[in-house]
Amino acid sequence: MKYAYKVKTLYDGSMNQPQENRIILVNGKIIENIVPWSSETSVAEDGYQVVDMSGCFAMPGMIDGHVHTILPGDGTSAEDFISNNSYGEILLTAAENIQKSLKSGVTVLRDCGAIPEIVFELRNAVRKGIIEGPDLLLCGSSLTTTAGHTHFFCGETDTPDQTVEKIRQLHKQGADFVKLIATGGGTKGVIQHAQMLSCEQMRAAADEARRLGKISTAHVCTTATARAAVDCGVDMLEHLIWADEHNNLTMDFELAEEIAQKDIPVCITASVISLSLSKYENAGRALTDAEQSEYAMLCRFRDTINEGFRLTCDKITYIPGTDAGWRSSRFDQFAECVIIMANLGMGSLRALNAATGTAAKVLGIDKTCGTLEKGKAADFVVLKKSPVEKIENLRNIYQVYKNGRCVTNI
Ligand SMILES: [Zn+2]
Repeated sequence: MKYAYKVKTLYDGSMNQPQENRIILVNGKIIENIVPWSSETSVAEDGYQVVDMSGCFAMPGMIDGHVHTILPGDGTSAEDFISNNSYGEILLTAAENIQKSLKSGVTVLRDCGAIPEIVFELRNAVRKGIIEGPDLLLCGSSLTTTAGHTHFFCGETDTPDQTVEKIRQLHKQGADFVKLIATGGGTKGVIQHAQMLSCEQMRAAADEARRLGKISTAHVCTTATARAAVDCGVDMLEHLIWADEHNNLTMDFELAEEIAQKDIPVCITASVISLSLSKYENAGRALTDAEQSEYAMLCRFRDTINEGFRLTCDKITYIPGTDAGWRSSRFDQFAECVIIMANLGMGSLRALNAATGTAAKVLGIDKTCGTLEKGKAADFVVLKKSPVEKIENLRNIYQVYKNGRCVTNI
């Protein structure tokens, strides 16, 4: 079946301004062409069924650059969730999660750490059409040290040889990229700002990833570990928080310059802390002393993240990620990350480009998705109001199409 989606405004995912009065021609799963309204009669004669959305705005399906599909994102810690649920239950949670993302306009998810057996099965189920879902880019396990940050994702290694062996195993299972844990984080028993993998391990991992034709990327939450990861030749960075061990802003402009010069892209998880603050702000009661100090700490951390991004977003290539699944990060709030990026200095067009065309390029999937053009997947989002004009309009998605099929009501 061939469809012609007639829209008022079309943003194609590039840095070009949106075009007015366009028709997206879709044949099966692919965009056949994009033509002006004046072609409507000939298109109908050619057998396309015209779908009139002539008051609407269309843009490419978005790419969430950093999620954890197997985690619930409801405040439960990863440790508790994994130990209290069977693999079957976790798989079902993941299936529900990815569908929430899809319905919020995300047609590609990049999973930055999971239990590999579960997430590879999840991708199989999507590919076979057993369940509807976004395309999944997977690392399988995030690689860490024994008992290190995210150790429950089965990626513990303690020597360069072990790290390389693990990468080869994950490659054999179907991993798309290599995720390295360079800094600690919220895992129980881990010092948040300590370096996890050694420089020798990261160097060996980056080399092995290159040999296998894959991107290596490192979770970095301090300025010092970002420096280490870049020195080790890692291809990409996650989070990139310009912080010292107290979460205070510690800019290293020389490093920022180097990241920009080497064209090392960064997936910024800009909304994680901002969204977790709302729990305290909407508590509807006075906070306890402990809650108040936690709130103050999170505010400082958010300010550090935001300021580091604001100071570097003109130079560095940033793409958005939600960290959905982790703690209280939900799968239906991708828009918030893009909105924060836009409002911190990127502007709406650049932030939308980061979530679509640029993300696809950075992740090596731009041959098939990221922009709306001839020959690409018919993955697109329809809104009633333009997010280019006002980025907050991204919160109101009207319809989502994946591979030419409307998936808004799955
Ligand atoms: Zn993460």
